[in-house]
Amino acid sequence: MDLFYDIEPLRDYVFNLKDKNQTIAYVPTMGALHKGHESLISYAKTLADKVIVSIFVNPTQFSPNEDFQEYPRSFQNDKSICMDLDVSALFLPEDSTIYPPNALLTQVTVPELSTRYCGKSRPHFFTGVTNVVIRLFNIILPDFAIFGEKDYQQYFIIKTCIQNLFLPITICSLPTIREPNGLALSSRNHYLSDTQKQEASSIYKSLCLAKQSVSNGTQDRTSLDRLIQTHLSPSIDIDYIAYVDSNSLLPSHTIKPGNRILFAGNLNQTRLIDNIAL
Ligand code: AMP
Repeated sequence: MDLFYDIEPLRDYVFNLKDKNQTIAYVPTMGALHKGHESLISYAKTLADKVIVSIFVNPTQFSPNEDFQEYPRSFQNDKSICMDLDVSALFLPEDSTIYPPNALLTQVTVPELSTRYCGKSRPHFFTGVTNVVIRLFNIILPDFAIFGEKDYQQYFIIKTCIQNLFLPITICSLPTIREPNGLALSSRNHYLSDTQKQEASSIYKSLCLAKQSVSNGTQDRTSLDRLIQTHLSPSIDIDYIAYVDSNSLLPSHTIKPGNRILFAGNLNQTRLIDNIAL
């Protein structure tokens, strides 16, 4: 596995692959890799000749009061996971490599979608994400990029951005990988005790009950909200519950199978998000 820290050598590597007509599947991550990331990497291998993974804890998507400093970093373990999965190249840039002076004079944002749902309580977040992902795409020039449905709003915003800018990259999404109790795997689960993980698993369980209720004919938002609240651990503070149209990510007028429920909440200081297709 090749390791790259700087843009120029990575570009040489990428252009060399392009010269040989080899395709690239790319998995952007913030590290602290788990089985969710591993599923994206394994799928990437089925799509292209080479798989490139990046690990970059992107400072611009954290507000000053968020967990940028504490965010779990486990490079040695991440590196061995990538080697075991036969990743072709790992990109590990410094903050100053991605954001040299004046880099943010140019910004890419999707305001209509970035200010909703998670964007309400994290106003920096999606603009930080689109800005970093577009830069990483321009460095790596992938044919495919793979994202998890765990971060559905993020996936949708990136897909929209790529379509709007006519970038020739196929954006793929993969289902959320979960603990046996239903808790969506997340690097932030490192912050949780075993008891808190058990409490956090009530998110997926309550979303599944809402899904069941919709397939039984419920269309009423208030009773679905109440059902979710009732089955959620009291230790979780709800940030939002949204019922969205999967094709536009806008709030759905009529709740029906095919829509998606998006959820965010906080357990102590830990932000937890999840979503399921109805
Ligand atoms: P992160 O390192 O958290 O920025 O995530 C990198 C990629 O992994 C994103 O596309 C996430 O949606 C995806 N991902 C994170 N958790 C999971 C999961 N539990 N299942 C599937 N994909 C995931």
